[in-house]
Amino acid sequence: MEYDVIIVGAGPSGIFCAYELINKNPSLNILMLEKGNDMAHRICPKRKTGVCVHCKPCNITTGFAGAGAFSDGKLTLASSETGGNLDKLIGEPLVKELIGKMDDIYLKFGADTRLYGTDNPEAVKRIREKAEAAGMKLVESPIRHLGTEASYEIYSKLEAYLLEKGVKILFKTAVEDILTDNGEKVKGVISKDGEEFYSDTVIIGAGREGAKWFKNVCEKHAIKTTPGTVDLGVRVECPDSVMQELNEAMYESKLIYYTKESNDKVRTFCQNPSGEVALENYHLPGGVTVTTVNGHAYKGADLKTDYTNFALLVSKNFTEPFKEPLEYGAIFARAANMLAGDTVLVQSYGDIKKHRRSTPERLAEAGAAPTCTDAAPGDLTLVIPKRIMDAIIEMIEAMDKVAPGLADDATLLYGIEVKFYSNKVLIDERCETNIKGLFAIGDSSSWTRGLSMSSAMGLYVADQIRKQRR
Ligand SMILES: Cc1cc2nc3c(=O)[nH]c(=O)nc-3n(C[C@H](O)[C@H](O)[C@H](O)COP(=O)(O)OP(=O)(O)OC[C@H]3O[C@@H](n4cnc5c(N)ncnc54)[C@H](O)[C@@H]3O)c2cc1C
Repeated sequence: MEYDVIIVGAGPSGIFCAYELINKNPSLNILMLEKGNDMAHRICPKRKTGVCVHCKPCNITTGFAGAGAFSDGKLTLASSETGGNLDKLIGEPLVKELIGKMDDIYLKFGADTRLYGTDNPEAVKRIREKAEAAGMKLVESPIRHLGTEASYEIYSKLEAYLLEKGVKILFKTAVEDILTDNGEKVKGVISKDGEEFYSDTVIIGAGREGAKWFKNVCEKHAIKTTPGTVDLGVRVECPDSVMQELNEAMYESKLIYYTKESNDKVRTFCQNPSGEVALENYHLPGGVTVTTVNGHAYKGADLKTDYTNFALLVSKNFTEPFKEPLEYGAIFARAANMLAGDTVLVQSYGDIKKHRRSTPERLAEAGAAPTCTDAAPGDLTLVIPKRIMDAIIEMIEAMDKVAPGLADDATLLYGIEVKFYSNKVLIDERCETNIKGLFAIGDSSSWTRGLSMSSAMGLYVADQIRKQRR
């Protein structure tokens, strides 16, 4: 079957691309291929039982809406410095316009109208001053919080909308490879079951789940890439009261710190007030499964906890001869899983300072209560490279000056958190790869790392394709 456009992956980047394409040209014959389930069948057993059963593929990261379906749904409405570097490719004014457009779509499908970070400038000023005094930069950005359950509803409506408009979506259909004419022009894709689908326009939006798969495709077809940034770190969890000022004024405080000796960049990422720490399973090519941490927060008062979580990530840009950022991240995730018995590790900050592993008894003694009950108490310092661990500790001490109490013994560190978007695909200003007709969008392109930017990139590519077809 021949299609006008094939989109691999039904995450936010693919959804927004399909949305824009079909709205602008309702007669387009669009096929989306998604390895996971439709919204109705995306059920994470852990949400009910509290125990991760390692679904294959993981329902948190695959299916319609990709990693967005059960995400906290924080839309970061900044056009640069956060969420990726699309601005370096197409310029900040255009990214700003696209962010506005994608925000309007989320609003149209039911997003909360409240915007955090804009309604209390005095409080933000106070936080900025304290952060600067502690050697950190505060990146200010308006945040729209959808909430985990609202994200699910919004994406369900988007799924119904696309289907009603005639977009064909095949679920449980993993793409194995792309098909080309002599490696020069794309002509379609082949699924894992060997079925071929044809189109002269193929868009890959495979997300973090598909980042390793896409890297292999790039290697096989000589699609140009460069190693991107490796983001490795932990998820920190503390009582809401510690982060109260930041939570209330900004919802998410984006703080950046450079370590004193090594000048390593450490940043906060994905803050979830009254939230929960969550597990993600990545099934990487070659049969390797890694379980990593993430976090989210429900909107409904009855589902909220008394704890805030956020990621502390150390960003490393490696140079020659390094070329395997995904494998590098996976090695540490796997090591943590090994020590933890196929789950993630949790350790109190007090135990880290005392150079000892955490145990259930020690966590209880410190008054720490992990929201992620299937994390195993253990020793993260046996997994995370010393330089990265030192950077995390230095950042926690700096943040303690902005959020007093963060460096307390009872603060929890879960590990590891790693971002699988480090294989940067070289694309032109239309997001086309060196194979004609093959476009790369969203987190698997490594140009984005979040809902807003990946959705915006989807909108952008749709527009490029539309112009080309005219
Ligand atoms: C728990 C959690 C909380 C998060 N919270 C936030 C937040 O609050 N704010 C924020 O900005 N970001 C958040 N994120 C990150 C955000 O969800 C992602 O950045 C975003 O979803 C990226 O969109 P994408 O379309 O690039 O990729 P994805 O959403 O990862 O979608 C890619 C899709 O491609 C599919 N796929 C992969 N390989 C193949 C293949 N070979 N064949 C067919 N299909 C394939 C996958 O199944 C997946 O559905 C969170 C993520 C998680 C997991």
